Amino acid sequence: MTSYKAGLSKDGHIYTRQNGLVGGLHTYAVIEPESKIQQADDGDVWEAIVVGAGYAGLIAARDLVKAGKKTLLLEARDRVGGRTWSAEIDGTTFEMGGTWVSHVHGRLFAELQRYGLKDDITMTRTPGGGCSYFTLDTGSGSRKLSLEEAGEMTARAWRIFISIDGNEGRSICPLPFSSLGNLRVSPEEVKAVDQLTCRDRLNQVKDKLSADEMALIESLVPHCGGGSVEDMGFLEMLRAQALQGYIPETFEDIWTLYKIREGQSTLARRIFDDAVRLGLQYSFKTPIKSFVEKEGVVSLTTGTGKTYRATRVVNTIPLAVLPTIHFDPPLSPLRQEAINIGQLNYLTKIHAEVEGDLRGLRGCTWPGDFLYVYGDGYCAGGKTTRITSFAGDNRGKLDPLKEPEKLETALKRFHPMEIKKVVFHDWISDPYSMCGPAWYRAGYLTKYLPELQKRHGNVLMANADWASGWRAFIEGAMEQGALAADTVMEEVGIRGANVAKST
Ligand SMILES: Cc1cc2nc3c(=O)[nH]c(=O)nc-3n(C[C@H](O)[C@H](O)[C@H](O)COP(=O)(O)OP(=O)(O)OC[C@H]3O[C@@H](n4cnc5c(N)ncnc54)[C@H](O)[C@@H]3O)c2cc1C
Repeated sequence: MTSYKAGLSKDGHIYTRQNGLVGGLHTYAVIEPESKIQQADDGDVWEAIVVGAGYAGLIAARDLVKAGKKTLLLEARDRVGGRTWSAEIDGTTFEMGGTWVSHVHGRLFAELQRYGLKDDITMTRTPGGGCSYFTLDTGSGSRKLSLEEAGEMTARAWRIFISIDGNEGRSICPLPFSSLGNLRVSPEEVKAVDQLTCRDRLNQVKDKLSADEMALIESLVPHCGGGSVEDMGFLEMLRAQALQGYIPETFEDIWTLYKIREGQSTLARRIFDDAVRLGLQYSFKTPIKSFVEKEGVVSLTTGTGKTYRATRVVNTIPLAVLPTIHFDPPLSPLRQEAINIGQLNYLTKIHAEVEGDLRGLRGCTWPGDFLYVYGDGYCAGGKTTRITSFAGDNRGKLDPLKEPEKLETALKRFHPMEIKKVVFHDWISDPYSMCGPAWYRAGYLTKYLPELQKRHGNVLMANADWASGWRAFIEGAMEQGALAADTVMEEVGIRGANVAKST
C-alpha cells in the first residue's frame, strides 16, 4: 500500500446523474505545501531551473540535484505528473492521462525498479473476466467477435496497411530512434514516405481490405494518435510499428495492458520526493509566461510579475502550450512555424464505474463518439467494474464538459451497462496541455523535428512531444528530461570522482 495521502487537485472531473459534473479530484500527485524555496531567489541565479513537473521535468530535476546542481522546479499546476496522473476515488485508482507501461520502455522500467515498483504491476484486461468478447460496431450494425477473432482481423489489416516496403516497416524504419535517416535508409527515402497521410496509404491498399478491416484501421489510427487518417502522417505509424518490434500482435501488450498498481502518481511522487531529499527547491501554482535571456542568464517571469533567474533552463512546456509563452530572443522562424502548425492529438479518455463484471469487455465503434473500450479491472469492493474508453478528435461533436450525459450514451453503444460515475480529465481545455501527447501530420517530422529538439540559447527544450524514440509516451518524456539534464551538467560543470589535485 502506498504511504501517500491523496490531496485535492483542481484537475479532473467526475460526473454522476445525482450531482452532475464536479471539478477537482483527489490524487497522490498534489504537493503541499506548494512551495519550498529556502534560497533567497531575488537576485540569485540558480544553476538550473526546470519548468514543468511532468515526467520530463521530474527526471531532469532529479538528475540535476543528484549531480549537486542548485536546481529549482517551477510548475503551473498544484501537482506533479503533467499529462500523467492518477485520481483516487472511493478506493479506486483512475489513470487520467498516461497509463500503460511496458518492459520495452527501458528508462521507465529502470525508474520503476529504482523506486521499488517493478513488480507492482496490474493488468487492464482481466483474462476470463466478465463479457470477454469484442463488440465491433462499424455503422452497419453491431456484432460480437471473440477476442481471438478480433485480434487476428486487426493484425491482418494492420500488416497490409503498414507494409509499404514489403517488409513490415523494417526497411523504411530499421532504427526507430533515428527514424529520419540512418546508415540503412536515406533521408530522401524517409521524406518521401513522410509526405503520405494515413488515408493516402489506405488508398494504396483499400482493395486488399474488407470493410470491417478498413474500419478497424480508420479507428486504430486515431486511437493511437488522436487525429484522423485524413491528416495523420503515415511515418508515425511506421515508427510505432518499429518500436513494437514490427509485429502487430505485440500492440495490445505494449500499448494497453500493464499499469502501475498504485497508480502513475505514486511513481511521479517517488521521483519528486527523491529529488526533494537531494535538495530540490520548488514552487507549484507558478505558471511561467516569459523566457528572456540576456548575457547568458535566463529570466523567467510569472503572470504576477515574479522573476526567477538561472544560467540554464530545462523547459518542458508541451508543444501546444508554447504559443502562449513569450521568448526573447524570439524562437527561430522554423520553430515558430512548427509551433503554429501544431500537432493533431485531440483525444478524449473517459473512465466509468459500472455495475457488475465487465472486466473482459473490449470493443470498437466506428464511426462513433468513442473509438475503443477496455474492461479495466474491478473497482474497490469487487462488485463494479472500471472501464476505460477513448475518443479521437471530437471537437465540435462531443464536449465532455458541456454534455457529460452524452458520454453515458456513447459508452452504452459498446454494451448495455449501468453507469455509476464517469471520470475524466479534459486535456483539450486544460491551459497547460491544450492537447494530448503529440502526433503529427504528414510532412511534419522530416521538416520540423530536428528544429524542435534544438536548444534555444541557454534554454534546453525537453518534452515527450519531440522525443526521438517513444515520442508521445512516458518513455519519451524520460528520454528528453535525462538528455537535457546531461547537457546542463556538462555545461554548468560536474566535479566527478577522483579529481586530480591541481599542483
Ligand atoms: C489521455 C492520455 C493517455 C496517454 N496514455 C499513455 C500511455 O498509456 N502510456 C504512455 O507511455 N504515455 C501515455 N500518454 C502520454 C504521456 O502521458 C506523455 O507523453 C507524458 O506524460 C508527457 O510528459 P512530459 O513531461 O513530456 O510533458 P507534460 O506531462 O505535459 O509535462 C509538462 C508540464 O509543464 C507544465 N506547464 C505547462 N505550461 C506551463 C507554464 N506556463 N509554466 C509552468 N509549467 C507549465 C504542465 O503543467 C506539465 O506539468 C498519454 C497521454 C494522455 C493525455
